[in-house]
Amino acid sequence: MTKEEYMNIALTLAKSTIGQTSPNPSVGAVVVKDGRIVGMGSHLRAGLAHAEVIAIEQAGDDAIGADVYVTLEPCSHHGKTPPCADLLIEHQVKRVYIACVDPNPSVAGEGIKKLKQAGIEVEVGIREAEALAINKSFFFYMQHKRPYVTLKAAMTLDGKTATKTGDSKWITGEAARKDVHKQRAIHDAIMVGVNTVQQDNPQLTTRLPQGGKNPIRIILDTQLSINQASNVLQDKEAPTWIVCGSKVNVEAFANAFPHITVLQQSTPTIRLPELLDKLGELDIQSLYVEGGSTVHGSFVKENLFQACHWYIAPTLLGGIDAKTVVGGRSPENMIDATQLTIASMEQIGSDIKVIAYPKQE
Ligand code: NDP
Ligand code: ZN
Repeated sequence: MTKEEYMNIALTLAKSTIGQTSPNPSVGAVVVKDGRIVGMGSHLRAGLAHAEVIAIEQAGDDAIGADVYVTLEPCSHHGKTPPCADLLIEHQVKRVYIACVDPNPSVAGEGIKKLKQAGIEVEVGIREAEALAINKSFFFYMQHKRPYVTLKAAMTLDGKTATKTGDSKWITGEAARKDVHKQRAIHDAIMVGVNTVQQDNPQLTTRLPQGGKNPIRIILDTQLSINQASNVLQDKEAPTWIVCGSKVNVEAFANAFPHITVLQQSTPTIRLPELLDKLGELDIQSLYVEGGSTVHGSFVKENLFQACHWYIAPTLLGGIDAKTVVGGRSPENMIDATQLTIASMEQIGSDIKVIAYPKQE
């Protein structure tokens, strides 16, 4: 097998744990000796062994003189576990192939340096793009200390997300909705505006036949006016955070709902940049924003998103009084439109899923 093929196995190991390792990255490692795979590992959960540790342990004495394929630069700092770079040196591996460098300031190049200083051959950049994609939220978070924000919406072919009465069940088919649940499972948190809670009373949980973790539910509700009977307050299915403005008295609410976290802002209205900083401090690396229209409008206007996941149904709703996917006010000129690049288009059941990213300047 070629270097790329071995790295592909390591990437598959990493990919299979997306969503379960936060706040750590998803990492896979493969140890190869004389053309045989002698060890394989993934980092399964924060607090458990790193991928390299599992793979090296499996390899045993075969690690001496072996080639190691790892999807992310081996760590060089003492975290919850001793540094993997040291482990590879101790086991006298011959070569280490690394898909991408770790942007974590306490690693960034240090792991590679250590390995080289110990006389281990190091090659960086094999299947780098795929490795970067696996941990895109982690990398973004490391650089910006804010969550990677994905805007998600289900819309008709004419860009409507609800009728004039607010009805939106259902716009897309079952297969597309299942895809949304998969996305929920791999995000740290999910966000909606209070109007969506009042209108739809959603559960905002992950409901898949094979299971999947529930993200933290975050509701933007300046006045704390949320319906107290709503599912998100009552069902205790997932941690729930309500964001409110500085002017409301939160005491009665906090007493009534001790299991709900209230994030009171220092300003009368909710300011998204400050909120994203706060969510970063609270270890939220990936945020899935499910709308509605007004919330999407705010994120787009302030350029505070990294991806759009649009599910488009072959339906025309019509009506200027129907909800539009990105609310708020239109800019005056086309030159002020937010430019995106289409990354992928996929048919899911009878709907289309479009993934787009803001165009890099
Ligand atoms: P939203 O659900 O977007 O909630 C908007 C409200 O959130 C605001 O009015 C505001 O209320 C609060 N909020 C607090 N801070 C902010 C902020 N910084 N930016 C934006 N909002 C903020 O309301 P919409 O009425 O626009 O959308 C709801 C409708 O959309 C429903 O009919 C629902 O069915 C539909 N929907 C459709 C979806 C789809 O994918 N098809 C997905 C989600 C909803 P306050 O001032 O009180 O805090
Ligand atoms: Zn490590």
